[in-house]
Amino acid sequence: MINFNVPPYVEKALDYIEECAKNQKICGDGAYTKKCSEWIEERTGTAKCLLTTSCTHATELAALLSDIKPGDEVIMPAYTFVSTADAFVLRGAVPVFVDIRPDTMNIDEKLIEAAVTDRTRAIVPVHYAGVACEMDTIMDIAARHNLSVIEDAAQAILSTYKGRPLGTIGNFGCYSFHETKNYSMGEGGALLIRDEKDVDAAEIIREKGTNRSKYYRGQIDKYTWVNFGSSYLPSDMNAAYLYAQLEIADQINEARMALWNRYRENLTPLAEKGKIDLPTVPKECVHNAHMFYIKAKDIEERTALIQHLKQNGILSVFHYIPLHTAPAGQKFGRFHGEDRYTTRESERLARLPMYYGLKLEQVDEICEAVKKFYASESKTC
Ligand SMILES: *Cc1c(COP(=O)(O)O)cnc(C)c1O
Repeated sequence: MINFNVPPYVEKALDYIEECAKNQKICGDGAYTKKCSEWIEERTGTAKCLLTTSCTHATELAALLSDIKPGDEVIMPAYTFVSTADAFVLRGAVPVFVDIRPDTMNIDEKLIEAAVTDRTRAIVPVHYAGVACEMDTIMDIAARHNLSVIEDAAQAILSTYKGRPLGTIGNFGCYSFHETKNYSMGEGGALLIRDEKDVDAAEIIREKGTNRSKYYRGQIDKYTWVNFGSSYLPSDMNAAYLYAQLEIADQINEARMALWNRYRENLTPLAEKGKIDLPTVPKECVHNAHMFYIKAKDIEERTALIQHLKQNGILSVFHYIPLHTAPAGQKFGRFHGEDRYTTRESERLARLPMYYGLKLEQVDEICEAVKKFYASESKTC
């Protein structure tokens, strides 16, 4: 059987976790947390990276730092994971869902400005599959309407837009290190802070509203409760697991890219025959091979395809029931404009197995099964 996902594992992780345990340094903000944050800061050039317990929590932090208040509106795509909206709903804000582009499955930047009202406070672009949204357009709209930009870069670590790392373009960027992502610590994430001026406030909220981070650095002699806050810092053992992967991040990235390219090579003939659609990567974007998906004709064909693959021992999945059609989406948010592509395209999409450790021969096997499905399809038509 070929699994859909297997979490990344690097042998060194065990040594690093053992080191944490033996040294009895297992709480948050230890040596490995520091190593991971510094690695991300160096690689992305962001002013500050704070490791968090999840991308969901990083987004919650960004919502607090952006001073999102009840009744505020936040523009985001309808095709995304629930956390993108939850972080703002928790602040009493209204998610305003906008249609996506069928080529990248990202928010259609040309529809954003029409959704801006005098209550709009932020735009949340989601870089689906690690492929960037049209950030120049989005940053320009944000500047003209004085809006914050919070990038949901959960899937986009090491991806770039016009050479700029995703997660560093907006005011805040949120990464995920969930076990389904390119680099993982089980559950975890990171908040990237673009502007130095936001760093102090972020450190305080992340540390239960205290200035303990400054105290640890010796900048003050005792720490105290200075603002509201919560606990968003992960255990150093989780960071140790992640750091082992970051050390060989390029190797992991290259391995994933080889799988992604193999899928594309194998399936291009099927796409050329018009049987399926393949992902598009605009020329401004370098992606990170987070995901390989194909699009079937419609939901019936997709269901049959997933079933066919399963019968061949291959696990593939679909995802994101558009948020505006979910009970909570209807309760808390609204869709602006027309749903031309969100529902239709979401119903066509199937994600194929993709993980560090998957073999090129397995990709060939999966592609053969896909081709067989479409060969038998055309006979019955
Ligand atoms: C995975 C994911 C999240 C949530 O990440 P967690 O670390 O599990 O909180 C949010 N947004 C998107 C687009 C994701 O893919």
